[in-house]
Amino acid sequence: MRAMTADPPERAAGPSTGSPRATTSEAPPSPALPPGFDPSRPRGGLGLDPRPGIAGLTPAALEAWVRERGEPSYRARQILDAVWRSFARQPDELTTLPKPLRAALGEAFRLDTIAESEVRVADAGRTEKVLHRLCDGAVVESVVMHYPAGPGHRERHTVCISSQAGCAVGCPFCATGELGFTRDLEAAEILDQVRDAARRLAERGRRVTNVVFMGMGEPLLNLDAVLAAVEALNDPRRFGLGARHITVSTSGVVPGIRRLTELGVQFTLAVSLHAARDPLRDVLVPLNRRWPVAEVVAAARDHARATGRRVSYEVTLIAGVNDTPTDAAALAELLAGELAHVNLIPMNPVAHTPWTASPPEAVERFAAILRRAGIPVTIRSNRGVEIGAACGQLAAERAGAPPPPAVQRRRERLLRASAAALRRARLADGARAGSAGPAVAAASERG
Ligand code: SAH
Ligand code: SF4
Repeated sequence: MRAMTADPPERAAGPSTGSPRATTSEAPPSPALPPGFDPSRPRGGLGLDPRPGIAGLTPAALEAWVRERGEPSYRARQILDAVWRSFARQPDELTTLPKPLRAALGEAFRLDTIAESEVRVADAGRTEKVLHRLCDGAVVESVVMHYPAGPGHRERHTVCISSQAGCAVGCPFCATGELGFTRDLEAAEILDQVRDAARRLAERGRRVTNVVFMGMGEPLLNLDAVLAAVEALNDPRRFGLGARHITVSTSGVVPGIRRLTELGVQFTLAVSLHAARDPLRDVLVPLNRRWPVAEVVAAARDHARATGRRVSYEVTLIAGVNDTPTDAAALAELLAGELAHVNLIPMNPVAHTPWTASPPEAVERFAAILRRAGIPVTIRSNRGVEIGAACGQLAAERAGAPPPPAVQRRRERLLRASAAALRRARLADGARAGSAGPAVAAASERG
């Protein structure tokens, strides 16, 4: 997960109702398990709750529910306001409703699908990393990043949210990938992370200005729930956030990208590319074996053309693995002529990988090659490293590190796989040396 820079909108938000079960603490110098989260507690320890989360309901569904009870339709508006302007967590907070209706609402729906939230503050208050326990005991993370106003832009408050508990894609540099997949989140569970952030911000007179799906999970593998969540975030009757201030990030689920294109939704699509050449991307993003990089970029290009919206390509730079001038040149060639923007971020250290972040000079050299090829680039700082800015790190700590021999074996396997991938990529480069575009060859030499 990383910082985003899209311009913020201002949106209306109502008064805060407080966050009774959330606790906030200053981050300890070295991350430890948050108090109150017992790693030995079995999943499902809080029991499964069959009531749907209210944040996942459309205004039409709420109106129908209100009508069925013989109540006037303005009651639906009052409920929507309580959910989306006051960010209510309990039926008692809906003081505009008669008590019997409040009780019926509480029986039919969960006002909040998050059972418990633990907040860790870092970066002198500029970053908040939040561990949420859901009603069945599954744990997900969100991050709130605060940016002060600067020349030409207002202050921003970006929330990075999770779409799944864990992730099945298994990128070896990612803490969530290491956890494996637990389950998809419901739309309400996705939205309640935003409401949690909005509630805490409202206590300080602030609003959520941007939402990024860059937390745990692969959003396009839980597409229906993610689309329902995006619709609620964008809906003026609900959260009312401009689509341009919502970013959905994918590791390259081609059918998902194509479906988004057909729907014509206007949010920003971010593609986690990490490598332009298949042998290396097969190692870094295992999904690449199913949808190779050329197919991913072709789908993203079609999306950019159909929506007129620039696609963000994310590249996590790993020292000596994907940060060489040859990698930069291959990326420049792949993205030539695309409506694209590249974000470079040095890898956040993750316990189970043998790799380290690219040094600043390698990042600069990589960026320079892309810029010379006419591709806009932003270098991101890995903010909040001390609290695990890559989503999944808190949950990974909580799950407990694998035993050292297993970590060691995995590290050795990854080193072998990345070295073999680089060898294969070099062989392929050699084979096509004669046919490589002059711009790419020149860029490599200059790098
Ligand atoms: N599954 C989606 C969205 C969640 S991951 C995806 O992969 O796009 C969000 C971003 O965090 C991705 O770009 C991912 O590559 C990046 N990321 C994961 N682990 C990281 C790490 N250790 N350092 C830097 N970025 C990381
Ligand atoms: Fe899943 Fe994204 Fe992490 Fe890859 S980077 S394992 S797709 S969350």
